[in-house]
Parts: sequence; structure tokens; C-alpha cells
Amino acid sequence: MSLLNKLVIASLPVVPKSLVWLVAKRYIAGKTLSDVSRVVRDLNKMKAMATVDVLGEFITKREESFPFRDECINVVNMIHSTKIDANLSLKLSQYGLKIDKELCEENLRAILAAASKVNCFTRIDMEDHTCTDATLDIYRSVRKDFPNVGVVIQAYMRRSEEDVRQLISEKANIRLCKGIYREPPNVAFQERKEVQDNYIKLLEMLLSTKIYVGIATHDYVLIDAAHSLIKKYQLQKNEYEFQMLLGVREDLRNKILEKQERIRIYVPYGEHWYHYSTRRFKENPEIAGYVFKAMFSNNNK
Ligand SMILES: Cc1cc2nc3c(=O)[nH]c(=O)nc-3n(C[C@H](O)[C@H](O)[C@H](O)COP(=O)(O)OP(=O)(O)OC[C@H]3O[C@@H](n4cnc5c(N)ncnc54)[C@H](O)[C@@H]3O)c2cc1C
Repeated sequence: MSLLNKLVIASLPVVPKSLVWLVAKRYIAGKTLSDVSRVVRDLNKMKAMATVDVLGEFITKREESFPFRDECINVVNMIHSTKIDANLSLKLSQYGLKIDKELCEENLRAILAAASKVNCFTRIDMEDHTCTDATLDIYRSVRKDFPNVGVVIQAYMRRSEEDVRQLISEKANIRLCKGIYREPPNVAFQERKEVQDNYIKLLEMLLSTKIYVGIATHDYVLIDAAHSLIKKYQLQKNEYEFQMLLGVREDLRNKILEKQERIRIYVPYGEHWYHYSTRRFKENPEIAGYVFKAMFSNNNK
């Protein structure tokens, strides 16, 4: 990490919220559901689909999970009533995973019941390694009653090959990503090349068995490898999709759209945008650099 980016990250707590918003607004739809429907509509116009995420931090009390659960229900109803092309993504820790697994599953079942009424797919995001087993357990339990639910596999995890093998036998719908959390070497591959190699290996396992995969990456090496595998296994354009984050590598997004392939954009929104953004800036120093640039740009006046 460059000294400049280290300085920017260290000074984030004193950067005015309005300035953080200048940078964050590229990666976040806004604070409200109407912001989401506007952003998704624009994505749909360019033929991209979306997955909507209600932003939130780890919760510590049971009651804190309920507003997030209710907001997810509002999201699926809004998707249905506005007819936008979108589905829902959620992180189980926001619904009580680390407090009480039963509470978490109850909240998830309430969301899935509302989603299934309007035929909306729900993706369970994957969090750090302390959540992996519990997330897969809950996914498997709810999927018996709600088939319209999918899960995420992180290519940096050493266990993922075994998880993928199992999920293939269950005919799961999978998003494959590299993984975003800092994990110890006994749990996760650390080198970029090792993670890329494992991503390609897992992707081949999935595509060769015709599992529907959300190929979630902005890494052109992986996108090229995915295209080679798609060709090798002669997949139709409705048998996979690419996935990217809102505001990230729009050049790559547009190339995929030009090829008329399916692409879904991850659209986060909500009142908790500030904590989410500062966490993202810390994870990705490249974005932190933009905060510094914004401080001295005309946009700021
Ligand atoms: C749709 C989607 C859903 C995801 N869901 C999960 C999940 O459930 N669990 C999980 O652990 N991780 C998730 N991730 C994050 C993922 O694991 C990676 O950490 C992230 O995508 C960066 O890896 P990359 O493959 O894009 O490659 P990188 O090599 O990290 O990125 C390639 C290039 O993309 C750009 N870039 C990548 N990420 C960002 C960013 N955040 N902001 C700005 N520029 C960026 C940079 O220019 C970078 O050089 C998700 C990612 C996507 C796209």
C-alpha cells in the first residue's frame, strides 16, 4: 500500500461525511428504495440485471436484525411492483448468525417466504471463515422449502473444492468470487496466482457439470479464462452470468454487454452507507486514493 493511501486511510475518521459520500456514491445506489429503483432501472436500460443488498454492519442484539429483515421484504416487494430486473443478496450476520442461528434462520425464512410469493431469487453472500459452516447449514436447511435461493463460494478458501463438489451434487445455484476477508494461511490461499488458479479450477468443475454460476469478478484474467471454459463446454448465454459491483470496472462490464452476455450488478444501498464505505476504502486502497483526489477536486466546492 502506498504511503499516500496509508495516510488517506488513517485520516478517514476526520474526513467530513459529505466528502466520503462524493466518492461512495459511485459504489452505492443511495439511502432509499427509490434510489435503488432509479439505479436498477438505468442498469436494466443498458441490459444489465441487478442484485440488491441492504447495507448493514454486524449486529449484536436480536432486535437489531428485525428492521433489516423487514427492509429485505420491502425490497422484494418493490422489485415485484416496479418490475425491475433484480434479485436480492444478503449477509446472514446482519440477520443474527453470530447471535443465534435459529433466530437467523427464522429471519431468513420470513424473507424467503415473501420472496417466493413474488418469485424473487435470493442469494446468501459468504462472509469470513467463522461463518462458512453455519451459512452452508442454514442454506441447506432453507433450500428444502425454498428452491429459489443460492449461495456463494470463495475461491481463496482451501475447503472450497470440497464444498463445490458437494454443492454440485445438490445442484446448487452458485456465485463464485475470490473472497474479500483477510483470512489466515491455514484457511485460505494467500498468493494472487494461487487464488486465480483455484478460481479457474472451481469454475471448470461448475461449468462442466452445467451448474448455473454467477461469475463474480473484475479480474480480466478470470474473465478470459471463463470465456475459454464457456467455449470449451459450448454453454448457451442463459447457462451462466457474470457479476460485478456497482461502479467498478465499467469498461469490463460494457465489454460483456457488447457480447450480449448476461451480467448482474451488485447494488448496495441504505442508511448504513457510511460504515460500509469506510470499510471498503480500508479494504481497497485504490478507492481510498479517490477520497484524496476528491478533497482537492472542483467537485468538492
Ligand atoms: C457481485 C459480487 C459479489 C460478491 N460477493 C462476495 C461475497 O459474498 N463474499 C466475499 O467474500 N466476497 C464477495 N465479493 C468480493 C470478491 O470476493 C472480491 O473480493 C472482489 O470482487 C475483488 O476481486 P476480483 O475478482 O474482482 O479481482 P481483483 O484482482 O481484486 O480486482 C480486479 C480489479 O477490479 C477493481 N476492483 C475490484 N474490486 C474493487 C472494489 N471493491 N472497488 C473498486 N475497484 C475494485 C480494481 O481495479 C482491481 O484491479 C463479491 C464480488 C462481486 C463482484
